[in-house]
Amino acid sequence: MRQHTSIFRILVPLVLATALCFAGRSHAGRAVGAEAAFDLVITNARVVDGAGNPWFRADVGVKDGRIARIGRINASEGGRTIDARGQILAPGFIDVHAHVENLYEQPDAENFVRMGVTTLVTGNCGGSAVDVGKFLDRAKETPVAVNIATLVGHNSVRRAVFGDADRAPTPEELEKMKALVEAAMRDGAVGLSTGLIYVPGTYAKSDEIVELARVVARHGGLYATHMRSEGERVSEAIRESIEIGEKAGLPVEISHFKVSNKRLWGKSADTLGLVRDARARGLSVTVDQYAYTASSTSLDSRLPSWLLEGGREEGKKRLADSLQRARVMREMKDSLKRSGFKDFSYAMVASYRVKPEFNGKSIAEITKIARGKKDIESQIAQIVEMYEAGGASMVYHSMSEEDVRRIMREPFTMIASDSGVRKYGEGMPHPRGYGNNARVLGLYVRDLRLITLEDAIRKMTSLPAQTFGLRDRGLIREGMAADLVIFDEAKVSDPSTFDKPHQYAVGFHYVIVNGVPALDGGRMTTERPGIALRGAGAVGPR
Ligand SMILES: [Zn+2]
Repeated sequence: MRQHTSIFRILVPLVLATALCFAGRSHAGRAVGAEAAFDLVITNARVVDGAGNPWFRADVGVKDGRIARIGRINASEGGRTIDARGQILAPGFIDVHAHVENLYEQPDAENFVRMGVTTLVTGNCGGSAVDVGKFLDRAKETPVAVNIATLVGHNSVRRAVFGDADRAPTPEELEKMKALVEAAMRDGAVGLSTGLIYVPGTYAKSDEIVELARVVARHGGLYATHMRSEGERVSEAIRESIEIGEKAGLPVEISHFKVSNKRLWGKSADTLGLVRDARARGLSVTVDQYAYTASSTSLDSRLPSWLLEGGREEGKKRLADSLQRARVMREMKDSLKRSGFKDFSYAMVASYRVKPEFNGKSIAEITKIARGKKDIESQIAQIVEMYEAGGASMVYHSMSEEDVRRIMREPFTMIASDSGVRKYGEGMPHPRGYGNNARVLGLYVRDLRLITLEDAIRKMTSLPAQTFGLRDRGLIREGMAADLVIFDEAKVSDPSTFDKPHQYAVGFHYVIVNGVPALDGGRMTTERPGIALRGAGAVGPR
């Protein structure tokens, strides 16, 4: 009897393991047969490991979603072999600044996969699911092509507790916000994000954010911020971000680092210096960046924040009052003047539902069409009219190439798209959602030699993984998750432009997520191998 028990103890797990193994393999579309040492072997690759080291030649064997061996591997040891033909094999790219709350509606995330992305961090700029556990659990019911992690957004939490009010929270409201942040961290958020130019985050003072960030610090998360200013007051905003990190005792990530005031073009030397100084004092501060001189956000962000309080209907009521309307016009004129731009020709419509024919045109052009003239007052009146009609998403050509390059060269800068999942052919969105990583690898690495290939890949892999606490990703090492990308460094490019954005990145042949190809020989598969990634503070079953 005893012997039987012990045989069962050995046999049952063995049978189970074999069954699981076969299930896993048939899921990946491979033949079921004799047990191979690897599910997948990539041969003849030039490996860029993500740490910044020069490439080396090796085969990589994948087993059960992990990197099982790096070195010489006999083809007969593997289930399937992919010949990389001397192309670059790198860790899958980790895009830490995404806005993909709608990922489950477009689970193939093709625009990301086709530029090498295997992990997205969403919940940026203050906007996220408030119930982070529910959001991450959806990846089980609705499988997605890429891994998903999320921050918890300050704006979303604030709105859930006391709406869009322009005031500080009461002590009770603050406690409620802290409880929501605490729950989000325990459910697996990787940190807290703010969007301090957006309603209602823009009404928050520093101390409110410090209180919430302290909760996040206790759970090992970071503070990612779309700062109060990226233009006129950018230095002040950087100081505030660093101070919040210092007071709350957690790492700071400054999102989409830029200088968007024309008068301050070239000042990235100083703004990067503020980050360097903080690091020299022992504070963990990093930044991310997309590789373009244009940003993209709402039209509302051009309007004074006091107008936006309580939502669009409230704003429209205020505009119906001639005195308040005149104040809006005056403040917008002043703010344009301070921005260094002569008019709103730097502001292009990406998507305007009321009149899609405006998509792709600048506010100056639209004003000329709609009003027959394009003086500043008319342009501002046009913006206000479009705000009243429901607003628009915009592309703002507001940065200098010199600053973009200087920021990219900085060792603590990572590459991130600031993009959502794109609907192919819809609107005139910023091309970063299709091309960001490809643009860095093609234009800035190969054509301009601004940074090396190995450094660019480090900025897309191990640096984001380290910063956001994704400890088993971002490096090609035995035991790490098998998120891998194979691309041709001579051909990689970003055909997506501001005029013709809906074009996928070129040069990526394989994008492998947890050992399973999402892109296979240049073709999208129907596999959805992504999983939810939870932060260090997560409790309970994963
Ligand atoms: Zn943002």
